[in-house]
Amino acid sequence: MIVWEEINVSLKKVCSKCNKNLIKIDEKYCGDCAENVEREKKQQWQYYDKVKRNQESKVIYQSKEWKKARTMTLIRDNYLCQDCLDSRITYATMVHHITPIVEGGEPYDVNNLVSLCDSCHGDRHSEIDKKM
Ligand SMILES: [Zn+2]
Ligand SMILES: [Zn+2]
Ligand SMILES: [Zn+2]
Repeated sequence: MIVWEEINVSLKKVCSKCNKNLIKIDEKYCGDCAENVEREKKQQWQYYDKVKRNQESKVIYQSKEWKKARTMTLIRDNYLCQDCLDSRITYATMVHHITPIVEGGEPYDVNNLVSLCDSCHGDRHSEIDKKM
């Protein structure tokens, strides 16, 4: 007598992704492809998440709360670039998020904000980009 499980083990089909590796009939992909599919899904999710958070940060920069937090930061920092302070006095031209909003940094928390000049702001961002 043949029980169902024995049939199940003997039946094989080809992986629906690579069309090469044999897999069990109740599986969808071979081991390698299953891993790739998982990774692709994750990457796609991360991409959409980033786009979404970028859109959110646009809204943030137009909000009243942001203008208030920005002004408070500039006043706290005496309108001076905080990275230049050691060597020279430069007026700040912008307020920068220490932990980027896209990475979950607090958008309106003055503790996450620092006043910078153009050139130091560029430096900070190239450092952030290097890390990513
Ligand atoms: Zn495969
Ligand atoms: Zn500076
Ligand atoms: Zn910045």
